[in-house]
Order: sequence, then C-alpha cells, then structure tokens
Amino acid sequence: MNGEIISVGSELLLGQIVNTNAKYISQQLATIGVNTFFQTVVGDNADRLKKAIEIAETRSNLIIFTGGLGPTKDDLTKETVAAHIGVKLIYNEVALQSIQEFFKKRNIAMTDNNRKQALVFENGEVLPNDTGMAPGMVITINGITYMLLPGPPSELEPMFSNYGLNAILNRLEVVDKIESRVLRFFGIGESSLEHKLEDLIDRQTNPTIAPLASDGEVTLRLTAKHANDYERKQLLDRVELEILNRVGENFYGYDETTIVKKMGNLIEEKNMTISVAESLTGGLFQEELTSISGVSKWFKGGIVSYLPEIKINVLGVKKETVEKYGVVSEECAREMAENVRKLMNTDIGISFTGVAGPSSLEGKEPGTVYIGVSFKNEPPTARLVILPGNRETVRVRSVKTGAWLIYKKLRDIQNK
Ligand code: ATP
Ligand code: MG
Repeated sequence: MNGEIISVGSELLLGQIVNTNAKYISQQLATIGVNTFFQTVVGDNADRLKKAIEIAETRSNLIIFTGGLGPTKDDLTKETVAAHIGVKLIYNEVALQSIQEFFKKRNIAMTDNNRKQALVFENGEVLPNDTGMAPGMVITINGITYMLLPGPPSELEPMFSNYGLNAILNRLEVVDKIESRVLRFFGIGESSLEHKLEDLIDRQTNPTIAPLASDGEVTLRLTAKHANDYERKQLLDRVELEILNRVGENFYGYDETTIVKKMGNLIEEKNMTISVAESLTGGLFQEELTSISGVSKWFKGGIVSYLPEIKINVLGVKKETVEKYGVVSEECAREMAENVRKLMNTDIGISFTGVAGPSSLEGKEPGTVYIGVSFKNEPPTARLVILPGNRETVRVRSVKTGAWLIYKKLRDIQNK
C-alpha cells in the first residue's frame, strides 16, 4: 500500500500553523510498514482540492485527508471528496446524537450547520470521534482507500491510532500478517531510552521499533510481519528480550495497561492494602484507583488535605513540621504518608504534596513535588521529583510517578 496525505487548510498555506498532522500520520503509517510517498497541502478551496485528489489517485492507493470536517462553510473536504468519487453523504445517527448531546450538556443552542458534521459516506466505515464532534470516515472505491480525519490534532491523533490504523490494517493485502506489541516504560526519558537502543532501532526493519513519549511515559511499538503466526511471535519475542536486557528496569507492562493498574495488581497479589493522602493531586490518585474494578480489595480510602490546617488537624502532621519545613517538603510528605497509613490501618500509605503551578509556593517552583511512601514496619521515605508541564500535566505525572514508586518497590521485593 502506498500512502499519501492531503492536508486541507488555508492556515497551513499561510504559515499560521505547522502541519503536525502529516508528521503524526506518516510516523504512525511507518509503524505498520506503510510508506508515505507524498504529502500535499491545499487551501480550503474545492477546485484545487479536487485537482490534488486527481493527482494523488494516479500514484497512491491510500489517500488520507486531514481537516475541513467541521461545521463552517470553509469546511468542504467531505463534500468535495464525496462528489469526486460519486458517493452520497448520509446522516450517521450515532454521530448526530453525540453532537446534540455535546450542545445539550453545555446548554447552548445547536445551530443547523452543526448537523452537517454528522454526514458520512454512504456504505463507508465511520471512525468515531472520542474527543470532539465530527466523525472521520473511510471508504475504498476502485482499489483506492480514502480516509478523512478532522483537523484538530487532539481529535485526529486518538481517532487515527484507535480506529484509523485498524481500518488500514484490515485493507492491507499482504500475505504477511502484521502484529504489534507495545512495551511501556516509566522513569526513563525518550531520548535516554532511544540512546540505549540506538543500534537496535537503526538496524531493525522487521520488527520495526517505534518510540513514542507522552505524559512522562515512553512506549515502544514493535511491529512484526510474517505469514506464520509462530514465526511472527518469535520475531517479536526476540527483539523484546534484547530490549528488556537493556532497559528492563523501567519496563512495566504491555499494550493498553497503565502504571496505576500494574501497581494495583501487585498490591492485590500480595494481599496488601493502601491508603492515600493527597494535596496537589486533589484526589486524582484515588480517582485513578477507583476506576479499576475490584479495587475495594486493596484500596481502603484517602484524604484530600489541601490546606495546611487540614494536614495538621485531620492528618496529624506536626505543626512544627509545617512551620519549620513548609508543606512542600520531604518531612511533610513523610508524615502525611505515615499518618494516613496508620489512620486507615493499611500496609501502604502514599502522599502527594507539591506545587502544581502556575504560581510558586513557599518559594518553590511549579512542578516541585514530594511523594511520601510509608510501608508498615518500615520508616517512611519521601522522594522529590521535578515535573515539567502545566498544572494539569504536573498533577497527572505526580500520580503516575507515585504509582511507579510503589510498583517498583513491590516488584523488587518480589524479585529478591
Ligand atoms: P473544526 O471542527 O475544528 O473546524 P476541521 O476538521 O474542520 O475541525 P479545520 O477547520 O481544517 O478542521 O482545522 C481546525 C483546526 O485544527 C485548525 O485551526 C488548526 O488549529 C488545527 N489543524 C488543522 N489542520 C492541521 C494540521 N494539518 N496540522 C496541525 N493542526 C491542524
Ligand atoms: Mg473547520
């Protein structure tokens, strides 16, 4: 399959935005062994778009369009492609409902042009939009696959990785079957991981190794091609083993799992229980825990102690500790973790105190976070981490780092 990307949007031609969508899609296509031979940018103009499609059809059998699926007049990708390939547009009920709900939830009147976002190819495949309104779509006509994706990267990226890639995989006419495996890492940066695996990444063609970093984690997608199921698995196993020999310390799981889940599995396996004291994360850690089913076996409860007075009066952190070291301190984190563990009578206590930002606190910069950990019959410890990003990212990364600390400790006990 030869891929081609047509990005639609006058703002791209005016140099107002960078074509990150093309970069993202090309990277993703490479992970499944599909070549991108051309990337085109065209303005919001039906005639010129039609010309771009005609050229693409002469040289590519997978044409991916980005942008122009929205409600306004200049959003004309869908209409232009549909007219060109002679396919009717029909309303998709699911998409229509979710658009209506979107407006209802926000209590704003839905204007009529918004309905147009629910129009999709008749007899095509719909790609759900989990983070926005306009669905994507894909259809194969005369051996050419046309895929339409929305412009905003926050909508395009999840749509493409969750649904788009599969739609393409299903259309690949190869004798070889393709299989992917995602390895997940924590506590190691993308560049450091890549550095340790540089020769492997450079050398490998089957499986391919594609690194991706997001929210403090790095993943490696291994993709192997082989007609034989056993051989294909062997290809993946072999390169996985080589990778884990080098960076196994930071590996925590496969595919769609999360570090919080893996921590939970270990706590449950060991018949232990955990309690939580949260300041800057405001309950986010407990939110993550309680989204796991069966969590009541190992999670007893927690306290959101946001203000110093709550840390002192409810959690029993010593007043002197707060006065002497501040609430953003190793000492405070340790006491929070140990006190919540005792209060709730659990095996493990964990605490989060720090500066989410944007302003500093107690003279400490945003992103300064102390994570306290208390295990029964052991002195409590606290770890300082400096996390990059805005308020939300700092909170999310704190939660993951906390889970990673507990996970690593339990795993290391197990391996001893
Ligand atoms: P909307 O419903 O938001 O109008 P759309 O599918 O119609 O979405 P566009 O109107 O083309 O998409 O673009 C919407 C926004 O998405 C742009 O203003 C820009 O911020 C972003 N965007 C569009 N195309 C790209 C691209 N190729 N790379 C990166 N960002 C893009
Ligand atoms: Mg638009």
